[in-house]
Amino acid sequence: MTTFEDLGLSQKVLSAVTDSGYTIPTPIQAGAIPFALQRRDILGIAQTGTGKTASFVLPMLTLLEKGRARARMPRTLILEPTRELAAQVAENFEKYGKNHKLNVALLIGGVSFDDQDRKLERGADVLICTPGRLLDHCERGKLLMTGVEILVIDEADRMLDMGFIPDIERIAKMIPFTRQTLFFSATMPPEIQKLADTFLQNPERIEVAKPSSTAKTVTQRLVASHSQDWEKRATLRNIIREVEADIKNGIIFCNRKKDVADLFRSMERHGFSVGALHGDMDQRSRTTTLHNFKENNLKFLVASDVAARGLDIPDVSHVFNFDVPIHAEDYVHRIGRTGRAGRSGAAFMLITKRDAKHLDAIKKLINEEIEWHGGDLSALPEREESEDRKSSDRRGGRDKGRGRDRDRDRSKAPRDVAGHKTDIEKADKSAVIDMASKKVEPPMAKTNQAPKRDYRDERPYPANDDHRRRRYQDRDDGPTPVGFGDDIPAFMMVSAAIK
Ligand code: AMP
Repeated sequence: MTTFEDLGLSQKVLSAVTDSGYTIPTPIQAGAIPFALQRRDILGIAQTGTGKTASFVLPMLTLLEKGRARARMPRTLILEPTRELAAQVAENFEKYGKNHKLNVALLIGGVSFDDQDRKLERGADVLICTPGRLLDHCERGKLLMTGVEILVIDEADRMLDMGFIPDIERIAKMIPFTRQTLFFSATMPPEIQKLADTFLQNPERIEVAKPSSTAKTVTQRLVASHSQDWEKRATLRNIIREVEADIKNGIIFCNRKKDVADLFRSMERHGFSVGALHGDMDQRSRTTTLHNFKENNLKFLVASDVAARGLDIPDVSHVFNFDVPIHAEDYVHRIGRTGRAGRSGAAFMLITKRDAKHLDAIKKLINEEIEWHGGDLSALPEREESEDRKSSDRRGGRDKGRGRDRDRDRSKAPRDVAGHKTDIEKADKSAVIDMASKKVEPPMAKTNQAPKRDYRDERPYPANDDHRRRRYQDRDDGPTPVGFGDDIPAFMMVSAAIK
């Protein structure tokens, strides 16, 4: 069996690895480290959780022992798609580089430029960045990339999803051609293969786990739910309470930032110990939340894919998919948060009648069936018909189609949760009278008619628009809503009786 001693790492590195308690290299480490030490380019196809961070950090530390940094000329550069991942890599340098005197600079958004400038001025051996912030520093003329000997591009497929590829191409052009490049991706779609072909010279390809494979230690279950958000929230609470005794901690995934915020508030109201993580939060809140979750001060974390991708939280017992991910690979990444390093874990996914297409794509990708927990969609209890009828009576049966569904949701939601009429509903009624007597049309009808689009499948900005790209780089949501978006006050949706 290969040990760390067999890989050619320096004594300083080996002693730090021993101190961290690791004895056997993971397959990506055993595969990549010897070639990285020979200054070969690497194409590593590996998910987070496979030990891939150490597979580039350990050889980099060994190689950096020769030579020293010059002001404003970093010696190595690591590109990460999110601030959390960048911070995590920096932690790895701290852990494995504790016997070294290396200057590691972390350039991420949401942190002051001045502190970062000071670090660069001292000369950085290792620069860990998100692409936008690095380009900002370069544009300010504070960085010279001509001394970079090793370039690491991590989570390349996530960079692609987030629209960072043009930034990466710009950055790569600033770095000498003679550099060594270590390139990691969990999946290899054609765009990533093309990029790898451009950036890498005669790379050693190391593939450790098929991106479609899910850990055998994770129990996966589907949970049938009605489709309105409030109904899904109730289903989620039920399933959590049902399995609560087994839950050490759990991450709950939503597809959109707005839903992360809504679900977080709802769970907090229902007394759960919960935090939220999404791309719009400032860096300090993100770091604090993550820290509290890791330290078990928070039991649940509601998160979006962008914010949670690749986070190293070693011991998550449960993953809940509040939404079925739109991209099937995200399912693999999400449930990869549990069952890590051979531990057992459980993953529950809420399924509504609307999710058939995306669920099929997931089953096809992972090439296995997922069992239902407590019966499939046909086992769901009927909705209360009387509620539906009441709301359609109130509309006088006038409006059909999408608007009608939305009306029904709005008239029903507050009641079922609270069990009796709410202020919104009372406001509804008075608005009917008010509007009818004034003979006005319900306003904002137009916003309701736009067809729903799947914005995650679209680039959030034109490919060459740097300014906007910067603004959207943490996006994990649809576009800014028009008018009230989906949050039209109930009283505005009520049909007016016009003579
Ligand atoms: P990564 O894929 O880099 O996010 O690493 C996932 C987890 O595996 C981290 O918690 C690492 O500390 C841990 N890890 C890295 N290398 C090893 C190893 N050789 N043996 C056991 N755990 C490891």
